[in-house]
Amino acid sequence: MVSTTESAVRTNAKYEPVIGLEVHVQLLTESKIFCSCSTRFGAPPNTNVCPVCLGMPGALPVLNQKAVEFATLAAMALNCRINETSIFARKNYFYPDLPKGYQISQYDKPLAEHGFIEVKSEEVRRKIGITRVHLEEDAGKSLHEGFPDASDRTAIDLNRTGVPLIEIVSEPDITSPDEAYEYLTRLKEIILYTGVSDCSMEEGSLRCDANVSIRPRGQKEFGTKTEIKNVNSFRFIREALIYEIGRQVDVLESGGRISQETRLYNASEGKTYSMRSKEQAHDYRYFPEPDLLPLVVDTKRKDEIEKQLPELPEARRARFVQEYGITEQDAGVLTSSKNLADQFEAAASAAKNPKRVANLVQGELAGRLKAKGLEIEQSPISMQGIAASADLVESGAISSKMLKDLYDLAFERGKDFPAVYEQEGRPVQSSDTSALEKIIDEIVAANPKQLEQYRAGKRTLAGFFVGQVMRASKGQANPQLVNELVTKKLDK
Ligand SMILES: [Zn+2]
Repeated sequence: MVSTTESAVRTNAKYEPVIGLEVHVQLLTESKIFCSCSTRFGAPPNTNVCPVCLGMPGALPVLNQKAVEFATLAAMALNCRINETSIFARKNYFYPDLPKGYQISQYDKPLAEHGFIEVKSEEVRRKIGITRVHLEEDAGKSLHEGFPDASDRTAIDLNRTGVPLIEIVSEPDITSPDEAYEYLTRLKEIILYTGVSDCSMEEGSLRCDANVSIRPRGQKEFGTKTEIKNVNSFRFIREALIYEIGRQVDVLESGGRISQETRLYNASEGKTYSMRSKEQAHDYRYFPEPDLLPLVVDTKRKDEIEKQLPELPEARRARFVQEYGITEQDAGVLTSSKNLADQFEAAASAAKNPKRVANLVQGELAGRLKAKGLEIEQSPISMQGIAASADLVESGAISSKMLKDLYDLAFERGKDFPAVYEQEGRPVQSSDTSALEKIIDEIVAANPKQLEQYRAGKRTLAGFFVGQVMRASKGQANPQLVNELVTKKLDK
Protein backbone atom coordinates (compact mmCIF):
# COMPACT_ATOMS: atom_id res chain seq x y z
CA MET A 1 0.00 0.00 0.00
CA VAL A 2 1.52 3.31 -1.02
CA SER A 3 1.13 6.37 1.17
CA THR A 4 -1.71 8.81 0.75
CA THR A 5 0.37 11.67 -0.58
CA GLU A 6 2.16 9.47 -3.09
CA SER A 7 -1.17 8.24 -4.37
CA ALA A 8 -2.45 11.78 -4.60
CA VAL A 9 0.53 12.71 -6.71
CA ARG A 10 0.04 9.74 -8.98
CA THR A 11 -3.62 10.66 -9.26
CA ASN A 12 -2.66 13.82 -11.05
CA ALA A 13 -0.81 11.96 -13.76
CA LYS A 14 -3.16 9.12 -14.54
CA TYR A 15 -6.53 9.66 -12.88
CA GLU A 16 -8.85 12.58 -12.54
CA PRO A 17 -10.99 12.99 -9.39
CA VAL A 18 -14.65 13.90 -9.76
CA ILE A 19 -16.13 15.48 -6.65
CA GLY A 20 -19.63 16.67 -5.82
CA LEU A 21 -20.64 18.22 -2.48
CA GLU A 22 -23.89 18.23 -0.57
CA VAL A 23 -24.08 20.93 2.05
CA HIS A 24 -26.80 21.28 4.68
CA VAL A 25 -27.22 24.74 6.11
CA GLN A 26 -29.46 25.48 9.08
CA LEU A 27 -31.57 28.60 8.63
CA LEU A 28 -31.57 31.23 11.38
CA THR A 29 -35.32 31.41 11.88
CA GLU A 30 -36.59 31.80 15.43
CA SER A 31 -39.11 28.98 15.10
CA LYS A 32 -39.05 25.60 13.37
CA ILE A 33 -40.12 25.05 9.78
CA PHE A 34 -43.56 23.46 10.41
CA CYS A 35 -44.42 24.50 14.00
CA SER A 36 -43.81 27.39 16.38
CA CYS A 37 -41.22 25.63 18.60
CA SER A 38 -38.00 27.54 19.26
CA THR A 39 -34.87 26.66 17.26
CA ARG A 40 -32.52 27.80 20.04
CA PHE A 41 -29.34 25.71 20.24
CA GLY A 42 -28.29 24.29 23.60
CA ALA A 43 -31.71 24.14 25.31
CA PRO A 44 -32.24 21.19 27.71
CA PRO A 45 -33.10 17.99 25.74
CA ASN A 46 -36.68 17.65 24.50
CA THR A 47 -37.86 21.05 25.72
CA ASN A 48 -38.37 22.66 22.31
CA VAL A 49 -40.96 20.16 21.10
CA CYS A 50 -44.69 19.97 20.33
CA PRO A 51 -47.13 17.45 18.75
CA VAL A 52 -46.15 18.61 15.22
CA CYS A 53 -42.39 18.12 15.51
CA LEU A 54 -42.86 15.00 17.63
CA GLY A 55 -44.87 13.52 14.79
CA MET A 56 -48.04 12.85 16.80
CA PRO A 57 -50.89 11.37 14.76
CA GLY A 58 -53.16 14.05 13.37
CA ALA A 59 -50.81 16.99 13.98
CA LEU A 60 -50.51 19.12 10.86
CA PRO A 61 -47.51 21.08 9.58
CA VAL A 62 -47.80 24.84 8.89
CA LEU A 63 -45.04 26.28 6.71
CA ASN A 64 -42.83 28.98 8.27
CA GLN A 65 -42.73 31.82 5.72
CA LYS A 66 -39.45 33.15 7.11
CA ALA A 67 -37.79 29.83 6.21
CA VAL A 68 -39.06 30.20 2.64
CA GLU A 69 -37.74 33.76 2.49
CA PHE A 70 -34.29 32.75 3.82
CA ALA A 71 -34.01 29.74 1.53
CA THR A 72 -34.97 31.86 -1.50
CA LEU A 73 -32.49 34.56 -0.54
CA ALA A 74 -29.66 32.01 -0.22
CA ALA A 75 -30.60 30.41 -3.54
CA MET A 76 -30.55 33.83 -5.24
CA ALA A 77 -27.11 34.57 -3.78
CA LEU A 78 -25.97 31.25 -5.28
CA ASN A 79 -27.16 32.39 -8.72
CA CYS A 80 -30.00 29.85 -8.83
CA ARG A 81 -33.21 30.04 -10.79
CA ILE A 82 -36.12 30.11 -8.34
CA ASN A 83 -38.94 27.77 -9.34
CA GLU A 84 -42.29 29.48 -9.00
CA THR A 85 -43.84 26.22 -7.77
CA SER A 86 -42.01 23.62 -5.75
CA ILE A 87 -43.33 20.55 -3.97
CA PHE A 88 -42.68 19.18 -0.50
CA ALA A 89 -42.18 15.43 -0.42
CA ARG A 90 -41.92 12.75 2.24
CA LYS A 91 -38.60 10.97 2.42
CA ASN A 92 -39.39 7.74 4.22
CA TYR A 93 -36.90 5.98 6.43
CA PHE A 94 -36.72 4.60 9.92
CA TYR A 95 -34.29 6.06 12.40
CA PRO A 96 -34.65 6.54 16.17
CA ASP A 97 -34.22 10.33 15.91
CA LEU A 98 -36.96 10.66 13.28
CA PRO A 99 -40.27 10.34 15.15
CA LYS A 100 -42.57 10.63 12.12
CA GLY A 101 -40.78 7.87 10.23
CA TYR A 102 -40.27 10.31 7.36
CA GLN A 103 -38.58 13.63 6.77
CA ILE A 104 -40.37 16.41 4.91
CA SER A 105 -38.03 17.46 2.12
CA GLN A 106 -38.27 18.35 -1.55
CA TYR A 107 -37.56 15.85 -4.29
CA ASP A 108 -38.25 16.23 -8.00
CA LYS A 109 -39.51 19.82 -7.76
CA PRO A 110 -37.06 21.71 -5.55
CA LEU A 111 -37.23 25.40 -4.64
CA ALA A 112 -34.28 26.41 -6.82
CA GLU A 113 -31.97 25.01 -9.52
CA HIS A 114 -29.16 25.79 -11.98
CA GLY A 115 -26.92 28.01 -9.85
CA PHE A 116 -23.16 28.32 -9.57
CA ILE A 117 -20.35 29.52 -7.35
CA GLU A 118 -17.22 31.04 -8.82
CA VAL A 119 -14.03 29.64 -7.32
CA LYS A 120 -10.41 30.47 -7.87
CA SER A 121 -7.80 27.80 -7.44
CA GLU A 122 -4.24 28.05 -8.69
CA GLU A 123 -5.08 31.45 -10.22
CA VAL A 124 -7.79 29.96 -12.46
CA ARG A 125 -11.38 31.10 -12.04
CA ARG A 126 -14.02 28.44 -12.58
CA LYS A 127 -17.74 28.15 -12.11
CA ILE A 128 -18.87 25.18 -10.04
CA GLY A 129 -22.47 24.35 -10.91
CA ILE A 130 -25.16 24.09 -8.26
CA THR A 131 -27.74 21.50 -9.21
CA ARG A 132 -30.36 22.47 -6.68
CA VAL A 133 -31.22 24.19 -3.44
CA HIS A 134 -34.15 22.71 -1.56
CA LEU A 135 -35.89 23.19 1.78
CA GLU A 136 -36.26 20.45 4.34
CA GLU A 137 -36.61 19.78 8.05
CA ASP A 138 -33.79 18.53 10.26
CA ALA A 139 -33.95 15.29 12.24
CA GLY A 140 -33.29 14.90 15.99
CA LYS A 141 -30.10 13.74 17.62
CA SER A 142 -29.04 10.47 19.22
CA LEU A 143 -27.01 11.09 22.38
CA HIS A 144 -24.37 8.58 23.42
CA GLU A 145 -22.86 10.48 26.33
CA GLY A 146 -23.59 13.14 28.94
CA PHE A 147 -26.34 11.35 30.94
CA PRO A 148 -26.27 8.80 33.85
CA ASP A 149 -26.65 5.40 32.15
CA ALA A 150 -24.95 6.43 28.92
CA SER A 151 -22.73 3.34 28.97
CA ASP A 152 -25.58 1.01 28.02
CA ARG A 153 -28.23 3.31 26.62
CA THR A 154 -28.72 5.83 23.81
CA ALA A 155 -30.89 8.88 24.49
CA ILE A 156 -32.83 10.90 21.95
CA ASP A 157 -33.04 14.70 21.89
CA LEU A 158 -35.75 15.98 19.56
CA ASN A 159 -35.06 19.70 19.96
CA ARG A 160 -33.49 19.79 16.50
CA THR A 161 -36.37 17.92 14.85
CA GLY A 162 -38.07 20.29 12.44
CA VAL A 163 -35.38 22.98 12.40
CA PRO A 164 -35.32 24.40 8.84
CA LEU A 165 -32.46 23.42 6.55
CA ILE A 166 -31.50 24.08 3.00
CA GLU A 167 -29.58 21.45 1.12
CA ILE A 168 -27.21 22.78 -1.52
CA VAL A 169 -26.16 20.14 -4.03
CA SER A 170 -23.26 20.85 -6.37
CA GLU A 171 -22.70 19.40 -9.81
CA PRO A 172 -19.81 16.91 -9.99
CA ASP A 173 -17.68 19.79 -11.29
CA ILE A 174 -15.02 19.83 -8.58
CA THR A 175 -11.71 18.33 -9.68
CA SER A 176 -9.48 18.42 -6.60
CA PRO A 177 -9.60 18.46 -2.78
CA ASP A 178 -8.24 22.04 -2.87
CA GLU A 179 -11.05 23.11 -5.15
CA ALA A 180 -13.56 21.45 -2.81
CA TYR A 181 -12.08 23.45 0.07
CA GLU A 182 -12.30 26.66 -1.95
CA TYR A 183 -15.91 25.92 -2.99
CA LEU A 184 -16.92 25.41 0.64
CA THR A 185 -15.11 28.55 1.76
CA ARG A 186 -16.86 30.65 -0.89
CA LEU A 187 -20.21 28.99 -0.17
CA LYS A 188 -19.96 29.73 3.54
CA GLU A 189 -18.88 33.30 2.85
CA ILE A 190 -21.85 33.91 0.55
CA ILE A 191 -24.35 32.38 3.00
CA LEU A 192 -22.90 34.45 5.85
CA TYR A 193 -23.25 37.61 3.75
CA THR A 194 -26.95 36.89 3.22
CA GLY A 195 -27.35 36.46 6.99
CA VAL A 196 -29.66 33.43 6.67
CA SER A 197 -27.38 31.14 8.72
CA ASP A 198 -24.51 31.40 11.17
CA CYS A 199 -22.82 28.47 9.36
CA SER A 200 -21.32 27.20 12.62
CA MET A 201 -19.81 23.78 11.99
CA GLU A 202 -19.31 23.20 15.73
CA GLU A 203 -23.03 23.59 16.37
CA GLY A 204 -23.87 21.62 13.25
CA SER A 205 -25.52 24.47 11.38
CA LEU A 206 -23.31 23.70 8.38
CA ARG A 207 -22.71 20.05 7.47
CA CYS A 208 -21.09 18.57 4.43
CA ASP A 209 -21.11 15.23 2.62
CA ALA A 210 -18.79 14.59 -0.32
CA ASN A 211 -19.24 12.26 -3.29
CA VAL A 212 -15.98 11.26 -4.91
CA SER A 213 -14.88 9.01 -7.75
CA ILE A 214 -11.89 8.82 -10.04
CA ARG A 215 -11.60 8.08 -13.76
CA PRO A 216 -8.67 7.76 -16.15
CA ARG A 217 -7.91 11.18 -17.60
CA GLY A 218 -9.74 11.68 -20.88
CA GLN A 219 -12.48 9.18 -20.03
CA LYS A 220 -15.99 10.56 -20.20
CA GLU A 221 -17.87 8.10 -18.01
CA PHE A 222 -17.71 8.54 -14.26
CA GLY A 223 -16.11 5.92 -12.06
CA THR A 224 -17.95 4.35 -9.12
CA LYS A 225 -18.37 6.90 -6.36
CA THR A 226 -18.18 6.69 -2.62
CA GLU A 227 -19.83 9.09 -0.23
CA ILE A 228 -17.99 10.58 2.74
CA LYS A 229 -20.43 11.68 5.41
CA ASN A 230 -20.57 14.33 8.11
CA VAL A 231 -17.02 15.61 8.26
CA ASN A 232 -16.90 18.50 10.70
CA SER A 233 -14.40 20.95 9.23
CA PHE A 234 -13.37 22.11 5.76
CA ARG A 235 -9.81 21.11 6.48
CA PHE A 236 -10.90 17.56 7.34
CA ILE A 237 -12.99 17.38 4.16
CA ARG A 238 -9.93 18.25 2.14
CA GLU A 239 -7.89 15.62 4.04
CA ALA A 240 -10.64 13.01 3.74
CA LEU A 241 -10.81 13.60 -0.03
CA ILE A 242 -7.04 13.34 -0.42
CA TYR A 243 -7.11 10.06 1.48
CA GLU A 244 -10.13 8.70 -0.36
CA ILE A 245 -8.78 9.56 -3.83
CA GLY A 246 -5.51 7.87 -2.90
CA ARG A 247 -7.37 4.82 -1.64
CA GLN A 248 -9.38 4.55 -4.85
CA VAL A 249 -6.23 4.83 -6.97
CA ASP A 250 -4.64 2.06 -4.92
CA VAL A 251 -7.69 -0.19 -5.38
CA LEU A 252 -7.79 0.32 -9.16
CA GLU A 253 -4.02 0.03 -9.59
CA SER A 254 -4.00 -3.29 -7.75
CA GLY A 255 -6.71 -4.62 -10.06
CA GLY A 256 -9.63 -4.20 -7.66
CA ARG A 257 -13.04 -2.57 -8.05
CA ILE A 258 -14.44 0.40 -6.14
CA SER A 259 -17.67 -0.51 -4.41
CA GLN A 260 -20.38 2.09 -4.07
CA GLU A 261 -20.63 2.78 -0.37
CA THR A 262 -20.85 5.35 2.37
CA ARG A 263 -17.63 5.97 4.27
CA LEU A 264 -16.85 7.78 7.50
CA TYR A 265 -13.73 9.85 8.01
CA ASN A 266 -11.68 9.31 11.15
CA ALA A 267 -9.85 12.61 11.60
CA SER A 268 -7.35 11.36 14.19
CA GLU A 269 -6.21 8.55 11.88
CA GLY A 270 -6.69 10.52 8.67
CA LYS A 271 -8.52 7.58 7.06
CA THR A 272 -12.00 6.79 5.75
CA TYR A 273 -13.83 3.60 6.76
CA SER A 274 -16.70 1.80 5.09
CA MET A 275 -19.96 2.45 6.94
CA ARG A 276 -22.53 0.77 4.72
CA SER A 277 -22.70 -0.33 1.13
CA LYS A 278 -25.24 1.27 -1.18
CA GLU A 279 -26.83 -2.13 -1.82
CA GLN A 280 -28.11 -1.95 1.74
CA ALA A 281 -29.12 1.69 1.30
CA HIS A 282 -32.70 2.82 1.75
CA ASP A 283 -35.15 3.33 -0.99
CA TYR A 284 -36.76 6.45 0.39
CA ARG A 285 -40.04 6.00 -1.50
CA TYR A 286 -40.54 9.71 -1.94
CA PHE A 287 -44.07 10.91 -2.50
CA PRO A 288 -45.68 14.40 -2.38
CA GLU A 289 -46.45 15.56 1.18
CA PRO A 290 -50.26 15.42 1.38
CA ASP A 291 -50.48 17.85 4.32
CA LEU A 292 -48.80 20.77 2.55
CA LEU A 293 -49.82 22.79 -0.49
CA PRO A 294 -47.34 23.32 -3.33
CA LEU A 295 -44.94 26.10 -2.35
CA VAL A 296 -45.42 29.14 -4.56
CA VAL A 297 -42.83 31.91 -4.81
CA ASP A 298 -44.26 34.20 -7.47
CA THR A 299 -42.60 37.14 -9.22
CA LYS A 300 -43.89 39.67 -6.72
CA ARG A 301 -42.52 37.69 -3.77
CA LYS A 302 -39.24 37.06 -5.59
CA ASP A 303 -38.83 40.79 -6.22
CA GLU A 304 -39.44 41.55 -2.55
CA ILE A 305 -36.87 38.99 -1.44
CA GLU A 306 -34.35 40.11 -4.04
CA LYS A 307 -34.38 43.59 -2.48
CA GLN A 308 -32.79 42.11 0.64
CA LEU A 309 -29.89 40.65 -1.31
CA PRO A 310 -26.71 42.42 -0.16
CA GLU A 311 -23.73 43.17 -2.35
CA LEU A 312 -22.00 39.78 -2.42
CA PRO A 313 -18.36 39.16 -1.50
CA GLU A 314 -17.02 38.71 -5.04
CA ALA A 315 -18.58 41.97 -6.27
CA ARG A 316 -17.50 43.80 -3.16
CA ARG A 317 -13.88 42.66 -3.55
CA ALA A 318 -13.79 43.92 -7.13
CA ARG A 319 -15.23 47.26 -6.05
CA PHE A 320 -12.75 47.65 -3.17
CA VAL A 321 -9.83 47.11 -5.57
CA GLN A 322 -11.28 49.75 -7.90
CA GLU A 323 -12.42 52.30 -5.38
CA TYR A 324 -9.64 52.19 -2.80
CA GLY A 325 -6.75 51.18 -5.01
CA ILE A 326 -5.84 48.19 -2.85
CA THR A 327 -4.58 44.78 -3.91
CA GLU A 328 -6.93 41.89 -4.59
CA GLN A 329 -5.45 40.05 -1.63
CA ASP A 330 -6.13 42.92 0.78
CA ALA A 331 -9.62 43.33 -0.64
CA GLY A 332 -10.04 39.63 0.11
CA VAL A 333 -9.10 40.17 3.76
CA LEU A 334 -11.34 43.22 4.15
CA THR A 335 -14.35 41.45 2.63
CA SER A 336 -13.83 38.14 4.46
CA SER A 337 -16.84 38.97 6.60
CA LYS A 338 -19.67 41.35 5.85
CA ASN A 339 -19.26 42.95 9.25
CA LEU A 340 -15.60 43.76 8.67
CA ALA A 341 -16.26 45.06 5.16
CA ASP A 342 -19.08 47.25 6.51
CA GLN A 343 -16.83 48.59 9.27
CA PHE A 344 -14.07 49.34 6.80
CA GLU A 345 -16.39 51.17 4.46
CA ALA A 346 -17.98 53.15 7.28
CA ALA A 347 -14.52 54.17 8.53
CA ALA A 348 -13.18 54.91 5.07
CA SER A 349 -16.14 57.03 4.08
CA ALA A 350 -16.04 58.96 7.37
CA ALA A 351 -12.31 59.68 6.98
CA LYS A 352 -11.04 62.70 5.07
CA ASN A 353 -9.10 60.45 2.71
CA PRO A 354 -10.60 56.95 2.26
CA LYS A 355 -7.53 55.70 0.37
CA ARG A 356 -5.32 56.58 3.32
CA VAL A 357 -7.47 54.34 5.53
CA ALA A 358 -7.03 51.50 3.04
CA ASN A 359 -3.30 52.12 2.88
CA LEU A 360 -2.99 52.08 6.66
CA VAL A 361 -4.85 48.78 6.86
CA GLN A 362 -2.60 47.37 4.19
CA GLY A 363 0.67 48.94 5.29
CA GLU A 364 0.59 49.46 9.03
CA LEU A 365 -2.07 47.13 10.38
CA ALA A 366 -1.52 43.97 8.32
CA GLY A 367 2.17 43.63 9.20
CA ARG A 368 1.59 44.14 12.92
CA LEU A 369 -1.26 41.61 12.95
CA LYS A 370 0.90 39.08 11.17
CA ALA A 371 3.78 39.61 13.59
CA LYS A 372 1.43 38.93 16.51
CA GLY A 373 -0.37 36.08 14.77
CA LEU A 374 -3.73 37.86 15.03
CA GLU A 375 -6.69 37.85 12.68
CA ILE A 376 -8.04 41.22 11.62
CA GLU A 377 -11.13 40.72 13.85
CA GLN A 378 -8.77 40.48 16.85
CA SER A 379 -6.94 43.73 16.05
CA PRO A 380 -6.59 46.09 19.02
CA ILE A 381 -6.98 48.98 16.58
CA SER A 382 -10.51 49.15 15.20
CA MET A 383 -11.48 50.46 11.79
CA GLN A 384 -12.75 53.63 13.47
CA GLY A 385 -9.36 53.93 15.19
CA ILE A 386 -7.62 53.65 11.86
CA ALA A 387 -9.88 56.31 10.37
CA ALA A 388 -9.12 58.64 13.32
CA SER A 389 -5.38 58.15 12.90
CA ALA A 390 -5.62 58.69 9.14
CA ASP A 391 -7.30 62.05 9.75
CA LEU A 392 -4.57 63.13 12.16
CA VAL A 393 -1.89 62.42 9.56
CA GLU A 394 -3.98 64.03 6.85
CA SER A 395 -4.32 67.29 8.80
CA GLY A 396 -0.63 67.33 9.64
CA ALA A 397 -1.25 67.00 13.39
CA ILE A 398 0.93 63.90 13.63
CA SER A 399 3.68 62.59 11.39
CA SER A 400 3.77 59.12 9.81
CA LYS A 401 6.58 58.29 12.19
CA MET A 402 4.42 59.25 15.18
CA LEU A 403 1.56 57.20 13.80
CA LYS A 404 3.83 54.14 13.59
CA ASP A 405 4.93 54.66 17.21
CA LEU A 406 1.34 55.05 18.40
CA TYR A 407 0.33 51.87 16.51
CA ASP A 408 3.19 50.03 18.23
CA LEU A 409 1.93 51.26 21.62
CA ALA A 410 -1.63 50.23 20.74
CA PHE A 411 -0.44 46.70 19.98
CA GLU A 412 1.72 46.58 23.10
CA ARG A 413 -1.12 47.71 25.34
CA GLY A 414 -3.93 45.96 23.48
CA LYS A 415 -5.77 49.30 23.24
CA ASP A 416 -7.45 51.07 20.36
CA PHE A 417 -5.75 54.03 18.67
CA PRO A 418 -7.90 56.84 20.14
CA ALA A 419 -7.31 55.53 23.69
CA VAL A 420 -3.54 55.37 23.22
CA TYR A 421 -3.54 58.80 21.59
CA GLU A 422 -5.30 60.17 24.71
CA GLN A 423 -2.97 58.27 27.08
CA GLU A 424 0.00 59.80 25.32
CA GLY A 425 -1.44 63.28 25.88
CA ARG A 426 -2.64 63.88 22.33
CA PRO A 427 0.86 64.40 20.91
CA VAL A 428 1.27 66.71 17.95
CA GLN A 429 4.24 66.95 15.69
CA SER A 430 6.52 69.81 16.49
CA SER A 431 5.49 73.12 14.95
CA ASP A 432 7.64 75.08 17.37
CA THR A 433 9.36 77.37 14.86
CA SER A 434 12.07 78.72 17.16
CA ALA A 435 13.19 75.24 18.29
CA LEU A 436 13.24 74.05 14.70
CA GLU A 437 15.13 77.12 13.53
CA LYS A 438 17.76 76.41 16.13
CA ILE A 439 18.20 72.83 14.82
CA ILE A 440 18.32 74.12 11.24
CA ASP A 441 20.98 76.69 12.11
CA GLU A 442 23.12 73.98 13.67
CA ILE A 443 22.77 71.61 10.74
CA VAL A 444 23.45 74.26 8.15
CA ALA A 445 26.52 75.37 10.08
CA ALA A 446 27.77 71.78 10.29
CA ASN A 447 27.52 71.24 6.53
CA PRO A 448 29.23 74.22 4.84
CA LYS A 449 30.16 72.24 1.73
CA GLN A 450 26.58 71.22 0.98
CA LEU A 451 25.45 74.80 1.64
CA GLU A 452 27.96 76.11 -0.87
CA GLN A 453 26.84 73.54 -3.52
CA TYR A 454 23.20 74.40 -2.88
CA ARG A 455 23.82 78.08 -3.33
CA ALA A 456 25.82 77.32 -6.48
CA GLY A 457 22.60 75.89 -7.94
CA LYS A 458 22.34 72.30 -6.72
CA ARG A 459 18.79 72.81 -5.42
CA THR A 460 18.17 69.10 -4.78
CA LEU A 461 20.43 69.37 -1.72
CA ALA A 462 17.48 70.95 0.12
CA GLY A 463 16.27 67.38 0.63
CA PHE A 464 19.54 66.49 2.35
CA PHE A 465 19.07 69.31 4.90
CA VAL A 466 15.39 68.45 5.45
CA GLY A 467 16.36 64.83 6.09
CA GLN A 468 19.02 65.88 8.63
CA VAL A 469 16.54 68.13 10.45
CA MET A 470 13.85 65.45 10.53
CA ARG A 471 16.35 63.00 11.97
CA ALA A 472 17.54 65.51 14.56
CA SER A 473 13.90 66.08 15.62
CA LYS A 474 13.45 62.29 15.91
CA GLY A 475 10.65 62.43 13.40
CA GLN A 476 8.58 64.72 15.62
CA ALA A 477 8.78 67.78 13.33
CA ASN A 478 6.10 68.64 10.82
CA PRO A 479 7.82 67.87 7.49
CA GLN A 480 5.98 70.60 5.62
CA LEU A 481 7.11 73.22 8.12
CA VAL A 482 10.69 71.92 8.09
CA ASN A 483 10.69 72.13 4.32
CA GLU A 484 9.56 75.73 4.43
CA LEU A 485 12.04 76.80 7.12
CA VAL A 486 15.01 75.02 5.53
CA THR A 487 14.37 76.61 2.14
CA LYS A 488 14.06 80.01 3.76
CA LYS A 489 17.34 79.55 5.62
CA LEU A 490 19.26 78.22 2.59
CA ASP A 491 18.01 80.99 0.32
CA LYS A 492 18.95 83.71 2.76
ZN1 LIG B 1 -42.75 21.77 17.46
